[in-house]
Amino acid sequence: AKEAGAGAVRVYDRAIDDLTRAHVEMTMALQTGIERNEFFLVYQAQNDVESRAVVGYEALVRWRHGERGLIPPSEFIPLAESTGFIHRLGDWVLKTAALEAAGWARPLSIAVNVAPAQLADIAFPLRVQQILNETGLDARRLELEITESGIIADQQKALAIIQQLKQLGVRIAMDDYGTGYSSLSMLQSFPFDKIKIDRSFVDAVAVSRPSAAIVRSTIILSHSLDIPVLAEGVETEEQMDFLRQEGCLCVQGYLFGKPQTAEQIAAVTGMAVSA
Ligand code: C2E
Ligand code: CA
Ligand code: CA
Ligand code: CA
Repeated sequence: AKEAGAGAVRVYDRAIDDLTRAHVEMTMALQTGIERNEFFLVYQAQNDVESRAVVGYEALVRWRHGERGLIPPSEFIPLAESTGFIHRLGDWVLKTAALEAAGWARPLSIAVNVAPAQLADIAFPLRVQQILNETGLDARRLELEITESGIIADQQKALAIIQQLKQLGVRIAMDDYGTGYSSLSMLQSFPFDKIKIDRSFVDAVAVSRPSAAIVRSTIILSHSLDIPVLAEGVETEEQMDFLRQEGCLCVQGYLFGKPQTAEQIAAVTGMAVSA
């Protein structure tokens, strides 16, 4: 029994070693990935419910790894967050999205995800200002998507940073609304310009009474607060019917298309595609 115990410890140690090694390798691969231009952005349309017209896009980062191919953000964003690399990656995302959107002939809005670490950085508003200056993007077109986890650690500091960002003219959206521990109190304390209802609620609106009730009451709440609301992850016409009836004005989801590259959306954005 004693030997088996020691063996188990060895196996456990080795598992940790493997994990650490994989972690270190992946972290190094992130660094070289940015130098080798392995990251790129895809854009997912945001549509008006009545007209179905595209009113804006959300930028989503992708990583085409040399050997491993396309790696989804769910696999590298958490790692980038735990190692601090998210600062560099987030900066690249913001700059690239601003640059590409500034090149669109149509002044559609461009939403960019901001990681908690970025929002906790007191230099972030200045960096956003620099990027707006460098790219020429109109601040009013930029919407920064933040989550509850990004403001929970130090609320006072987060509020100060959010206020500085708003002074630049950019809008702040609350992403994944309803999934945090205190979504309601976030609405009380922070001046959001948009509420994005999380996909997990939208998914089940047509089949689950609780989901329908949550989405319905969030839409009513957004109307009484006078904050535009968007439903994420809309995949079916049934969900669209529900959202339209309940007064949701804006949607995003596979029903209107998966995220696409800048070249693929050129016809909509009026972007000049260079040969
Ligand atoms: P998110 O911000 O909630 O982004 C929405 C995710 O839902 C995207 O996944 C999108 O492709 C997916 N989605 C959109 N419509 C539908 C639908 O109708 N059905 C389903 N099943 N999925 C849909 P993606 O691109 O894999 O991104 C996952 C998460 O990774 C994002 O969730 C966001 O938290 C993070 N992420 C992506 N890009 C960035 C970035 O540039 N910076 C940061 N900090 N996080 C990012
Ligand atoms: Ca988002
Ligand atoms: Ca979201
Ligand atoms: Ca989500």
